[in-house]
Amino acid sequence: MSATNLGATPTPSVDHLIQLITAGASDASSCTPELADGPWVADRVDGYGPGSSMGDVIPVGSPRQGSLPAEYRSASEDELDARIRAAKATLGERVVILGHFYQREEIVRHADYLGDSFQLARAATQHTNAEAIVFCGVHFMAETADMLSTPQQRVILPNLAAGCSMADMADIDSVTDCWNQLMERFGERSADGRASVVPVTYMNSSAALKAFCGSHGGIVCTSSNAATVLEWAFERGQRVLFFPDQHLGRNTAKAMGVPLEQMPMWNPRHPLGGNTAEVIDDSRVILWHGFCSVHRRFSVEQIERARAAEPRVQIIVHPECPMEVVDAADGAGSTDYIRKYVAAAEPGSVIGIGTEINMVQRLAAEHPEHTIFCLDPVVCPCSTMYRIHPGYLAWVLEELVAGRTVNQIQVPESVAEPARVALERMLEAVPQNSGATPGRG
Ligand code: SF4
Repeated sequence: MSATNLGATPTPSVDHLIQLITAGASDASSCTPELADGPWVADRVDGYGPGSSMGDVIPVGSPRQGSLPAEYRSASEDELDARIRAAKATLGERVVILGHFYQREEIVRHADYLGDSFQLARAATQHTNAEAIVFCGVHFMAETADMLSTPQQRVILPNLAAGCSMADMADIDSVTDCWNQLMERFGERSADGRASVVPVTYMNSSAALKAFCGSHGGIVCTSSNAATVLEWAFERGQRVLFFPDQHLGRNTAKAMGVPLEQMPMWNPRHPLGGNTAEVIDDSRVILWHGFCSVHRRFSVEQIERARAAEPRVQIIVHPECPMEVVDAADGAGSTDYIRKYVAAAEPGSVIGIGTEINMVQRLAAEHPEHTIFCLDPVVCPCSTMYRIHPGYLAWVLEELVAGRTVNQIQVPESVAEPARVALERMLEAVPQNSGATPGRG
């Protein structure tokens, strides 16, 4: 099997691949030709922009990015690279750059740390001397970093339009309305004295939802600790309200033995989420109807095709994938799990991965001893991660050099305080190190 229909020699740069596809120099395909444009073109239109979540509905009032100065839009890749390096060298220890696993290679090469959202937020806390934390990820990640950093530190998101379509699928008003319906039905406490419902939010959610959990006896989870967090919640309550990702909630609870019929889905557009009172009464985990458009692209058919082409193939997927995909895979786990799985595999392994293409391409380039490919044959990166282009990184860094802070993300203390309560509960339930790996920047 070739490394993904994407060329015999895996390039870590998905952007280069997209340019090759656009030029007709690769037999791979992308989900839209608009990926070849700079993200500043997408900033002028409604929606999340080209990539996996381009069909999702963007909430009214989502942050928009103002115009990027022309000099950054027209600069070549090499010029931007040199400008980022120069600005970073000038700023020295005053700045720390964090790069999410799903970022493009042209950003990751400048990152001081590479990791998942929570690993990066915690890495930032180890750099209290850095005045500015430039978070090359999406909005909720920058919010978390702001809440965990010191009051003197400024957290910067290079492109304000880099949201997360999954996080946007659960807003504080809809969740509060759901909660009120559940409280009306059950009251706060069940007959055994435990909470009737414990809210659990995935890290991929707004600070307001983390605060909601902090204020209502709830907790935050990540994709690596969701099972431990659910156990924590079941010790304290009769049932869990899990948001925003239905798939992580379903996959985790199913692996813990919760029957599917006790995991109804809550659609906020309908009374009782579209369920009967009996179903809600019998529930153990109420799943919000959110999903990640990147991980929703993976299918059982893709796995079957990979197995038919190479019987030795090992399939590993992220738990944000649909249940059928997780069930058909050989393993499922967080980005950290996937990285460790690849690193520990026998040389010569063939590994099909179900997660974001930038991470898969990087793993393929870092591990030439294996054949690694993305299960999705179509190149379709996360729309919002894709908004962080080197032009924006060069701009925010050069503004810092000039003594100006642009694109600062600030969570009001009235939200940050209860949100930290929910984060602290997670840390008490699941102690951990930062886990972020030093980057190449
Ligand atoms: S990969 Fe999915 S969950 Fe992650 S930022 Fe993109 S849309 Fe959000």
